[in-house]
Amino acid sequence: MSIRKDLFGTMPDGSEVFIFTLENSQGSYARVMTYGATLVSLVVPDKNGRRSEITLGFDKLEDYLTKNTPYFGVVVGRVANRIENARFTLNGKHYSLAANNGPNHLHGGLKGFDRVVWSAEVTDAHEGDAITFSYLSPDGEEGYPGTMECSVTYILTEQNELILVYSATTDAPTPVNLTNHAYFNLAGTMADTILDHMMLINAYSYTPSDELLIPTGTIESVEGTPLDFRSPRAIGSRIHQLSGGYDHNYILNKEDDELSLAARVSDPVSGRVMEVWTTEPGIQFYSGNFLVNLAGRGNSIYNKHAGFCLETQHFPDAVNKPQFPSIILQPGEMYSHLTRFSFGTE
Ligand code: BGC
Repeated sequence: MSIRKDLFGTMPDGSEVFIFTLENSQGSYARVMTYGATLVSLVVPDKNGRRSEITLGFDKLEDYLTKNTPYFGVVVGRVANRIENARFTLNGKHYSLAANNGPNHLHGGLKGFDRVVWSAEVTDAHEGDAITFSYLSPDGEEGYPGTMECSVTYILTEQNELILVYSATTDAPTPVNLTNHAYFNLAGTMADTILDHMMLINAYSYTPSDELLIPTGTIESVEGTPLDFRSPRAIGSRIHQLSGGYDHNYILNKEDDELSLAARVSDPVSGRVMEVWTTEPGIQFYSGNFLVNLAGRGNSIYNKHAGFCLETQHFPDAVNKPQFPSIILQPGEMYSHLTRFSFGTE
């Protein structure tokens, strides 16, 4: 196992952005940078032992700063996903946030946790090499109350697992919902879309939403709908029945906040398999619907369905839906969330 630190680029204000390469003895590696605590690259073997890149991203920091990035690999916060009309009420006080997605608030606002430089430290984790990113989110940032201290640790194990451990504390009650927004294509460079990938999602139900993707507040069974992935189905097999594709929050089958299997994805060509395990109650399955002609890493051009995201999370708009599990963090409490992406072949 080894960790290397390199300069990745410089922010317009002159501050430096570093990238860390975590590599295990099988030659798999993850590259993570201080800007956005972003997973820039993840390379794992296929069934023939050939290693290739399985995430979507860019080559240079400048691209992350200037291209219209759809949250490639970033940590999303303070609140991932949507908040209706960019507002909420907490303890009788009204808060307004940036409306950056029509009238709604998306992924933490105009300058969310994905657009700030985090501090980084090599840390000890018994599972493998680890980097901990930390960020102090000031009171009032993007409209959110309370100063929040948060950290995200990326760990790469010898078993080709990438583990993300999130934690946060606050000095005033605030909503918090952190996730990672990596886009995966397990075929590496072998396929332009993820439509042939087989998907299993360990969920009987989901939170239906309106045309702007705000949950209606009800919970419905996936049975008899194209959202049913309780047994593996090709992503593309029913996608045409949905306008645009998959962009849904599933309610995971689990007891409390145990670490449990959320999803299993496999690519028939490369034989790569990814499992997602999480302590979170929900997962957003997003099939890269809004990607259009985006020049990415190397000579790649990313188009619709070039990659998929599995964003482990609390439910969208939970802050305005008392029937959903609460995302309010109180002073003295610790937010914690663990998600493990495990890679293998079949
Ligand atoms: C959302 C999509 C959104 C995308 C942005 C996903 O988490 O569910 O609706 O367009 O992020 O890249």
